[in-house]
Amino acid sequence: MKTLEGKNALITGGSQGIGREIALKFASLGANIVLFYVGDDEKAQQVQQECEVYGVKTAAYHCDVSSFDAVKADVADVKKNFGMVDILVNNAGVTRDNLILMMKEADYDLVLDVNLKGAFNLIKACAPMLMKTAGRIVNISSIAGLMGNPGQANYSASKAGLIGLTKTVAKEFGSRQVTCNAIAPGVIQTDMTKAFDADSPMVKQIPLGRMGGTADIAETAAFLVSPASAYITGEVIRVDGGLAM
Ligand code: NAP
Repeated sequence: MKTLEGKNALITGGSQGIGREIALKFASLGANIVLFYVGDDEKAQQVQQECEVYGVKTAAYHCDVSSFDAVKADVADVKKNFGMVDILVNNAGVTRDNLILMMKEADYDLVLDVNLKGAFNLIKACAPMLMKTAGRIVNISSIAGLMGNPGQANYSASKAGLIGLTKTVAKEFGSRQVTCNAIAPGVIQTDMTKAFDADSPMVKQIPLGRMGGTADIAETAAFLVSPASAYITGEVIRVDGGLAM
């Protein structure tokens, strides 16, 4: 069933990994897809083409989410082209891992700017549209934001911050029936986790005994933007095989 038919979904970091899978899932449910990405144009175009197989309208914007002005300008262009944003998924994320004693200030700032300020920039720019349409916001956090992780002070802080942002947005926009929830993935097979395999100590601690796939996150995101979750807001759903229990 095309439960997202006629909806417009903006997905940041939609050119690969988890963001790509969410874009394909939403397109398969009938949503028009807007991707924000910052790297390879070809990869973004490829995802657009894969989404268009489902007969939906797509667009891709080369937009660094950490830039307040760039996000504002590109969201204005999305409004011109699509009329509305009904669904926002803040998925763009980066890592610059190191122990605090070795972590450079620039690496701390970059990760906070992309992962946390980026979500703020998108929420602020899209809020006027989302409030008109009882919109849905999904922020992709991480279990690192729940548990902390040595070597990831910047990343863990950004992902914990996203949870605070999620709950605040849920409270500020709740009266307009906008829902805002977070997903906290565990170890999911993407470029970001290419250093992990079945023998990695962290993977061995996962109660389900394996890494997750991008589809595990896309299915949860699809639930959080579906009519079935209309009364869920300010929630954090772990999708981690039980790792952060
Ligand atoms: P990924 O494969 O590295 O993809 C990251 C995406 O973010 C790419 O599309 C990238 O675009 C985009 N991006 C990075 N910086 C950006 C910026 N400044 N502006 C706009 N887009 C930007 O990572 P992933 O594993 O799919 O992760 C997706 C999200 O899930 C991230 O927020 C990550 O922290 C979170 N997460 C992942 C895992 C995991 O195990 N994989 C676990 C917990 C949470 P380009 O390709 O164009 O550079």
